[in-house]
Amino acid sequence: MIVDQETEIQSYSLEVQIFKVLTHPARLAILEVLRDGEHCVCHMEAHLGFRQAYISQQLAVLREAGLIQDRRDGWNIFYRITDERIYDVLSAVRRFTGENDPELQKAKTLCTCPQCSSRGSMGIK
Ligand SMILES: [Zn+2]
Repeated sequence: MIVDQETEIQSYSLEVQIFKVLTHPARLAILEVLRDGEHCVCHMEAHLGFRQAYISQQLAVLREAGLIQDRRDGWNIFYRITDERIYDVLSAVRRFTGENDPELQKAKTLCTCPQCSSRGSMGIK
């Protein structure tokens, strides 16, 4: 029956939604930055070199898909992964392509977020 086939196809809609969100290099890069914990937009800006507006735009997509959530703390909004198992998905894809999980790159510019400043004034003084 045609109706049954449609139901079967619809049952993939959640997976499709997740995969759609993942088919974007900037979003994958953002997820990698969030691998070591919650971060603010300025932190991602410093690490990825994207404009803040662009990062916010991608964060909104990730949040809408339920992959990340945000938390306001004073002037800052921190973003974190909702479910760490998303990294299982990314790692599985990399096993498939033969790539390693990327090492988190050093910040391209200095990040002034509270987390980075409190993490010790690493060499810069
Ligand atoms: Zn930072």
